[in-house]
Amino acid sequence: MPETITEEKLERQWHQLPVQEVVQTLASAEDRGLTANEASERQERFGPNQLTPQKEKSPWLQFLKQFNQPLLYILLIAAAVSLFLQHWLDAGVIFAVVLINATVGYIQESRAEKAMKALAESVTTEATVIRDGEQQRLPSNELVPGDVVKLSSGDKVPADLRLVKVNNLQIDESALTGESVPVEKATEPLDEETSLADRENMAYAGTVVTSGQGRGIVVAIGEATETGHISELVEQSAELTTPLTRKIHKFSKSLLYVILGLAALTFVVGLAQGESWVDMFNTTVALAVSAIPEGLPPIVTITLAIGVSRMAERNAIVRKLPAVETLGSATVICSDKTGTLTENQMTVEDIYAGGEHYQVKGTGYKAEGEILHDEQSVDLEESPVLRECLQCGLLCNDSQLQKKEGQQTVEGDPTEGALIVVANKAGLTRQDLQEEMPRLDEIPFESDYQYMATLHEKDSDKIIYVKGSLEAILKRCDQSLDAQGEETSLDTEQVEQEAEAMADEGLRVLAFAKKPVSADVESLEHEDIEEGLIFLGLQGMIDPPRQEAIEAVDVCKSAGIQVKMITGDHAVTAAAIARMMNLSQNQEVQALRGTDLGQMSDEQLKNTVKDSVVFARVAPEQKLRLIETLQSKGEIVAMTGDGVNDAPALKQADIGIAMGQAGTEVAKEAADIILTDDNFASIKAAVEEGRTIYLNLRKAISFLLPVNGGESLTILIGVMLGTALPILPLQVLWINMISSIALAVPLAFEPKPEGVMESPPRNPNERLLSGSILRRIAIISLFNWMITFGVFEWMLQQTEEITLSRTMAVQALVAAEVFYLLSLSQFLPSVWGKLRHQTDKIAYAPVIGIACVVVLQIIFSQLQFMNTLFDTVPLSFTQGLICIGAGFPVIIIGALLRHFDPLK
Ligand code: ADP
Ligand code: MG
Repeated sequence: MPETITEEKLERQWHQLPVQEVVQTLASAEDRGLTANEASERQERFGPNQLTPQKEKSPWLQFLKQFNQPLLYILLIAAAVSLFLQHWLDAGVIFAVVLINATVGYIQESRAEKAMKALAESVTTEATVIRDGEQQRLPSNELVPGDVVKLSSGDKVPADLRLVKVNNLQIDESALTGESVPVEKATEPLDEETSLADRENMAYAGTVVTSGQGRGIVVAIGEATETGHISELVEQSAELTTPLTRKIHKFSKSLLYVILGLAALTFVVGLAQGESWVDMFNTTVALAVSAIPEGLPPIVTITLAIGVSRMAERNAIVRKLPAVETLGSATVICSDKTGTLTENQMTVEDIYAGGEHYQVKGTGYKAEGEILHDEQSVDLEESPVLRECLQCGLLCNDSQLQKKEGQQTVEGDPTEGALIVVANKAGLTRQDLQEEMPRLDEIPFESDYQYMATLHEKDSDKIIYVKGSLEAILKRCDQSLDAQGEETSLDTEQVEQEAEAMADEGLRVLAFAKKPVSADVESLEHEDIEEGLIFLGLQGMIDPPRQEAIEAVDVCKSAGIQVKMITGDHAVTAAAIARMMNLSQNQEVQALRGTDLGQMSDEQLKNTVKDSVVFARVAPEQKLRLIETLQSKGEIVAMTGDGVNDAPALKQADIGIAMGQAGTEVAKEAADIILTDDNFASIKAAVEEGRTIYLNLRKAISFLLPVNGGESLTILIGVMLGTALPILPLQVLWINMISSIALAVPLAFEPKPEGVMESPPRNPNERLLSGSILRRIAIISLFNWMITFGVFEWMLQQTEEITLSRTMAVQALVAAEVFYLLSLSQFLPSVWGKLRHQTDKIAYAPVIGIACVVVLQIIFSQLQFMNTLFDTVPLSFTQGLICIGAGFPVIIIGALLRHFDPLK
């Protein structure tokens, strides 16, 4: 029964204590970790390993900020004028509208913010923990004091750790100490006075492992960590402004001046025509109110929020909102090969050892299938070199096979998983081998140097096993083994040819080597394997392209988006996979290699970068250069990444995409978007949604602005002609705040239209109100004016009842809006598609909006209470039909516009 630990016991100068004492004090075990029971007990006692965020932003301030909108100023002025004229009702309603507007904005904004944050948090930080002697991945917040944590490059240190084992472990502690150079870690006890920055036997929560591996014992969690002491975690607010919202803000500002100008003009013209001051104030207020698109800001927020949740449904978690828009204009996607374009389901198929080829049968991670040589089953006793090659793959390996829900899966790197499986097929198991040749030290795999090495004891001698890319291994070898297992000189050219032939079939080729060393070698350094290795053989594994990725690449192509493959893999393998996926137009895919890149001048790279689709043996640092070059050519680049060293490239890319499963914490933090399934097809899906969102926003704008246009024209022209006001300020507010918003919200829910992925990417510098949208707004505004003004004047002539004429003018305008919505939305086309059995879903959102508006408008004119409030009268059935009839032609205009000038 382990002794229980208490809070006091945790108050120690851990850096001062020897490892043994740390382990004892925390009642843990260095290699087995805590038991599951002990862990859950401690979790209850010490709580979760997390910082409680300080609420920083006061909700009141957030609310007040809502009033800081140019267009609301005008409304406030209008309300003040109404007050001055002693129009109490008008003033009251306008104030109410301002208040409602700010409240809606506030609610929308905080909801969107919460949703964004929940999404970001759904991607949990994980840590590798040893409990009950088993290595497992756990959410970081489940760690307790005493837990044994494994660190490797790209990890974020999950809690304060006293290190007990290090292997070239380097940690970037700038988040804590400000020191930007990574610190080399050690395990020896230090002086009591050693300052935080110099405690090299500690790893602190929130710092980042830049290279190497290590193991540490948790000594402090949550608020008790050093990070918890110095920084009250300020709640990170999700950024809600995007290029588009900024454009809209700018647009509102210019609109402000236009409205003020028009108002002044109306005022002067009216006075000149002999109108009274009071009337003119009234008219000016009506004009100002009518010109403001009150519905625009909430619709934009809603549309973006819906887009974000749709992307999440399709496995793309948006961390930074602007990416939603940028995605729609992406022109190049630079994607990893392994695991993103391919399945990451590796199976060794071909082994080359001792000058002979061996075929391996069976697929997947089940250890079923024979190893054949000349169609004959092989006996390892007769091919010692094959045995050594397989043995090397099994021992120089950090991954494990695991049964999950009856399925054999790999915990770790699939490349290594395949090596275990093939060794198992030949009858070699790790357990037996590890007893025979225990591991003493290791150099973990890292993309930067492309190999992994382990040091083993063998009887009284020692041996190093190395595996890695062909280039990395071959240049370090001078001998090789022949079929009988005797040393001979190495024929480099022969091996290269064999490797190339394997790679040409799309196989991922790994090379294997060994080096016997003297018994006094205790540890393994990079220098130890610089030369003198003995070549053991090659293993080629297939990693087939994902079917859905092949289709997605096709779609991207027709959408005018270039897909480039960036990989650390061999040039020939990469080119073969690119061929299978039709990445390039011509079948002769030539991969550009990292070394070629290194030799190119910026100018040369600029000339070739556009036409090269495959970049092989690329070091993470080179990704940054590739992106910068692409960007300098005006491309909008989406880029995937997973390693520590990918972070700068992910930040530089217009859209940084991290892998949710294979990605390191560092990569995820640098990214704009996280793919939960690591699949290229999800990038395509995100682009599709990004384009749809933008399209829907444009629809919403093209829907809302003509209403304001029609209203303003009605009032302006009314003044010019010296007629009575056809619609009153309060009626305008009703239309803008109630009817228009109810009708515009469905546009945010519009599904993706056919052909979104068939047009080229949008130009990011394109103006919000492009020529075609402006034209559309102008035309529909004009019709809205004709309908409103026409119905009003006609009714006035017929009946001489001004209240009735106004009521009908309002109803006719709203009817026109309904018909315009039908021409914009996908409802009718989807019904048509359903009838022709081409689609199975009807885009019914507009119907809900329209139904609401019908009810609202009936209330507006038929209820007595509303009659007093808005100065309306009940309409007869015929009068209602007249209004609907007056609005109807807009659907034809809309259809014509859709035909000749589609919104794309
Ligand atoms: P990618 O994931 O794009 O294929 P990596 O950087 O992971 O690129 O791998 C680059 C090369 O390093 C591979 O082609 C392979 O030869 C070698 N390699 C990959 N994984 C391992 C590993 N676990 N151990 C040793 N070598 C490896
Ligand atoms: Mg890899």
